[in-house]
Amino acid sequence: MNNSYDVKALAPGAWAIEMEKVRAFLVAGDTSALLIDTGAGGVNLRAAVCECTALPLRVVNTHSHYDHISGNRDFPMQFAHPLELSALLQAGFRPNPVGDGAGFDLGGRILQVVGLPGHSPGSIGLWDAEAGLLFAGDTVAGGRPVTLCLTGASLEAYIRSMGRILAMEDDGEGGTVRRIFCCHGSLEVDMDTVRQLKDCAEQIQRGELAGEPLPDGSARTLPEAARIYRLGDVALIV
Ligand SMILES: [Zn+2]
Repeated sequence: MNNSYDVKALAPGAWAIEMEKVRAFLVAGDTSALLIDTGAGGVNLRAAVCECTALPLRVVNTHSHYDHISGNRDFPMQFAHPLELSALLQAGFRPNPVGDGAGFDLGGRILQVVGLPGHSPGSIGLWDAEAGLLFAGDTVAGGRPVTLCLTGASLEAYIRSMGRILAMEDDGEGGTVRRIFCCHGSLEVDMDTVRQLKDCAEQIQRGELAGEPLPDGSARTLPEAARIYRLGDVALIV
């Protein structure tokens, strides 16, 4: 396993921490900072954080899959959505519950919790409304499929979540999201990708898209019966 990491500045007070298979994000305000996810383990994330900020730190997990929580042991003050807590508990972590609409006040900067179920029941995004940034966890991905086939996943919930992100677009109607960050694949995707993902999910729901068996070499953690559905530049595994 590769233990190295790479810190990339995204915007004032916002960084991506790139690891071998996943990325975490760090956002700092005037008085504290928030680490969004902790990776698959084996990486000195504390050192990565120290390269960016010395402010007091809280950790939030976008969901409870192992590649987003394994570094939790290195940090106090963790948070996750109530529907992810039992999986986190099984992994040995006891985060505090944080629900849809809650906010992390970092001092002059608020990151709001946005419920985005589908990939998992309690998946969340973190929204910096002022800066127009959305950290979307595994809910969206560019250049690779989004999986909707693991425990607790829901196609119906996913369609609603994609609608919710589209409604947050900075189009003069109250939304501010201009940049969407993902934990896997491309660092950023645009709203067109979200539109395509919603389209793809809706066509699957209506039985209009034919799925293919997963290609050889797919992750062994995916169920054998899962199928991959492709539409334009996006793909869903259901
Ligand atoms: Zn995941």
